[in-house]
Parts: sequence; structure tokens; C-alpha cells
Amino acid sequence: MSTTSFTKKSFGLDTVEPALTPPPVKSAETNFAKKTKLAGGKSKKRDIPEGLWTKCPKCETMIFDKELDENLKVCSKCDHHFPIGARERIHSLVETCTFEEMDAEMTSVDMLEFKGVATYASKLEAYKKNTTLKDAVLTGLCKIGEQRVALGVMDFNFLGGSMGSVVGEKLTRLIERGTEKELPVIIISTSGGARMYEGMFSLMQMAKTSAALAYHAQRKLPYLSMLTHPTTAGVMASYASLGDLILAEPGAMIGFAGPRVIKDTTQAELPPGFQTAEFLLDHGLIDAIVPRKEMKQQFIEYLDFLTVGKKVATVAS
Ligand SMILES: [Zn+2]
Repeated sequence: MSTTSFTKKSFGLDTVEPALTPPPVKSAETNFAKKTKLAGGKSKKRDIPEGLWTKCPKCETMIFDKELDENLKVCSKCDHHFPIGARERIHSLVETCTFEEMDAEMTSVDMLEFKGVATYASKLEAYKKNTTLKDAVLTGLCKIGEQRVALGVMDFNFLGGSMGSVVGEKLTRLIERGTEKELPVIIISTSGGARMYEGMFSLMQMAKTSAALAYHAQRKLPYLSMLTHPTTAGVMASYASLGDLILAEPGAMIGFAGPRVIKDTTQAELPPGFQTAEFLLDHGLIDAIVPRKEMKQQFIEYLDFLTVGKKVATVAS
């Protein structure tokens, strides 16, 4: 039944509401046969190029890619937040042409000459080529609303957003620049943790970034940490959990070790929803859940609130 109704819709309403005319999931064969027939000369509307639709993993709706992009990669049916790249994220948050990237050319060195299934050097090359990023974070100074901000945004597409020496160094320099220029820092995290290809060098980034944030805090400057899906391990155990405000996107998986490791170690059943943003909000680890579409406005409001004392001091002096 659902197949019939879909077929009718996709003929007539293609140009009106493409997101409501998803290709059928179960009836691939039927659809294929009809498509072949139509390609013989009846209608050109059936020639939907591949890669235009994305299936929502939560509600299984097929979403038109263009609509997904316009909606900041959030499912309009169930509000599922798809992963979003660092560049798109920055584009959605900062005022046009205000992002001055820092350390854009900094790249990792394979100092341990690490070899696993593939060498670290070859992995770095492949990820650089596929993502057109140099490493898993972009940093820079920018304006969000009227507020000048030091902003760091991680990208999960580059080696799982893992924190190696470049991620640590770029973020540390960003925080130090923020401290020097008396700017708030915002870091939007997504990470599988420390980059094991760099061994101890990656673990040392935890201390380095945390120390830089301590100096930033001594100057009474605000730091907002935004956790997005997933933020785990070494990143969660360092700068991601040190925000004056710790925020998260809806449904984000947040934690240190994975649930299986915790279950095996504690020998206890884990509660439902364990390690989700919602669970951690209820238990006090994070301060607010901020949907992606409201993020920019929320940042502006939080920063207005957190810097009000500074503005008063500036006016008075
Ligand atoms: Zn959905």
C-alpha cells in the first residue's frame, strides 16, 4: 500500500515538496522495474540522481539533501542532529567574512613512525586529501553577533576528531590568543579521544590545553564548551569538560570510556540513556542542551550575560 501511494506522489509532486517523496525502502525491485520502463521515454522526472537523499537513522525518513543542508543537517521530522563538518559549522555561527583562521597550515608529524594496518603517515595523507582539512580542528578569531570570540571547531571526519599534537597545539594557541586579547573562548568538540598514533604526545595535549584554559580563567574570561556527537575519552577528560558553561547538542553521546568497558569494570547494569546529553543534563554534568538551530543565538545571549561585568568596568574606566 505504501508503495502505491509513494509512486503517485513522486510523479506529481516532485518539484513541490521533494522531501515528502522519499524513495521506497523495501520495494527496491518494483521501483527499479518501473524506473527502467519510464527511462524508455515517458518522463524525465524519474531520473533522480544518486546521492540526493539521506535516510535519517532515527526516524528512517528519506530527506532531500538540499533540505537537510538548509536545515543545518537536522532532520525536520524527528530533530535528529546529523554530523556536521567544521567548515559548515563555522559558516552557520559566525558573522560573514569575520573568521580569521589561525595556524591554517599546521600539520601533524609522524614522530613515532607508527605502523598499524597502515602507517600513520599514509593515513594522514589520505584524510587530508578526503577532507581537505589539515587536521581535526579549525581555529580562529571571529565575530558572533557583536561579540569578538576565539573559536575552535573540531571535525569528526578527520581521523575521528582525534586529538593529536596539532589539535592540542592549535587549541592551546587559540586559548592563549583569547587570553591575550581578552576574548571569550568557544570550543565545539567532537572526538573519539586522544590520537593513539601519537602515543604519549597526544596524551600530553590534555594537560597543555587544560593549563591554557586555567590562565584564561584567571583573567575572568568566559569559556563555553559545546559537546556534539560524540565527545569522548581524552577530549572529554580535558578541555571539553572545563567550560564555565558546558553545553551539548540534543542526543549527543558524551562520556569517557565506552559503555561496554564501564559495564565490565563496574559489573553493574547501566541505566537507560546512559552517556547521552539528556541523561548528563539530568545528572548535572552539563548546563544546557542547545539545538543546532538555536546555537548562535544562545552563544550571543550567554556571552552577553557572562561579559556584562567587563562591559560595565570598561564604561566606568
Ligand atoms: Zn529523522
